[in-house]
Amino acid sequence: MTTNKLPLRAKVATSVSKTAAALSRAAGRGDGSVIGGWIGLKIDPELLAHLAAGRIIALVSGTNGKTTTTRLTAAALGVLGDVATNSLGANMPTGHTSALAKAGRTPYAVLEVDEHYLNQVITATTPRVVALLNLSRDQLDRAKEVAMMASLWRDALRGRDTHVVANADDPMVVWAARAAADVTWVASGQRWHDDSWVCPECGSHIERESGDWWCTGCDLRRPSPQWGVDGESVVDPTGTRHAVALRLPGRVNRANAATALAVAAQFGVRVADALPRLSQVASIAGRYATVERDGRTVRLLLAKNPAGWLEAFDMAEHAPTLLSINARDPDGLDTSWLYDVDFSSLRGRHVLITGDRAMDLAVRLEVNGVPFEHVRSFGRALTSVPPGRLEVIANYTAFQDIRAELDRVN
Ligand SMILES: [Zn+2]
Repeated sequence: MTTNKLPLRAKVATSVSKTAAALSRAAGRGDGSVIGGWIGLKIDPELLAHLAAGRIIALVSGTNGKTTTTRLTAAALGVLGDVATNSLGANMPTGHTSALAKAGRTPYAVLEVDEHYLNQVITATTPRVVALLNLSRDQLDRAKEVAMMASLWRDALRGRDTHVVANADDPMVVWAARAAADVTWVASGQRWHDDSWVCPECGSHIERESGDWWCTGCDLRRPSPQWGVDGESVVDPTGTRHAVALRLPGRVNRANAATALAVAAQFGVRVADALPRLSQVASIAGRYATVERDGRTVRLLLAKNPAGWLEAFDMAEHAPTLLSINARDPDGLDTSWLYDVDFSSLRGRHVLITGDRAMDLAVRLEVNGVPFEHVRSFGRALTSVPPGRLEVIANYTAFQDIRAELDRVN
């Protein structure tokens, strides 16, 4: 029994939570982690704190990259022992509760945390390290909401002795993280600047020049980073370069690896020991997965918001590229965010479009002068490109549709 040390109510809650999750799985209603955690927390509102007690914990939060960074960090901490993690992306307290209950007693846990819940989860789990990746708008949220989130993070970190690992290239993250007692800065990059032109401290303009940034009205500026990425390598605080052979594409994932290594270093993990484990991580809930189909190598990239789309363009190889957009509930019903994204880097590629809202995408590409071909389905896209690589970039439900279609063809 792994729950011996828990108070009675927490034991009952843990057991009911596991049973509910198993029932939910048996009923074909997903993996059950949310419903199990929800019931557990109803019985014992302190259940997350009880399950966290005795574990050394790292939390990972940010608008983009948190699922991937959580996975990489869990892989790195695996050097030390068993790690509990919410690897399916159930990133609210119900999901954390369920993940810890399911894992049994592990010495370590790495939890992905929805940005809105950071304060609550820090309070419940007393993490050793919190990693903060970036803050940008989700769908139609605007910069005002981004500043509000930075302010919530700042309040969550003030007066605690949790170590923070934070992105030095995102002014909103830096402003929030400065409230923490102790910070390790990682030069993770920031392709998306539209939500951080205005200083959250004083309202002045933020200037940028070749990787550096500073506020024109106060002392907020880019801290000098201890960790960074240089080409295919991660650079550690001693200046040593470590070649990273990731199976995940793009600079943004090398930056996620740098963050994972910086977090792991706080736990005493050496880079050389962690690297082989990072290179084992191939795909995360289908993201970045490559599938062979009819002589085509299809790679799936999920992009949920404007910053995510820019990153996906960077990750995609120079090959035929299918873009798919839906506007169902989980995606956000309004597609006007498409106008926030610069699609011009796709010029010169064979671009195909599909999805419920392909026509919105068509108008957007037209404005950017990117030629495209409309296809009725993912299957049609496959037959429209020559054998070889096909990159697919899709938003949430469009991504799920394409995964389902790939499963059917299997
Ligand atoms: Zn300022």
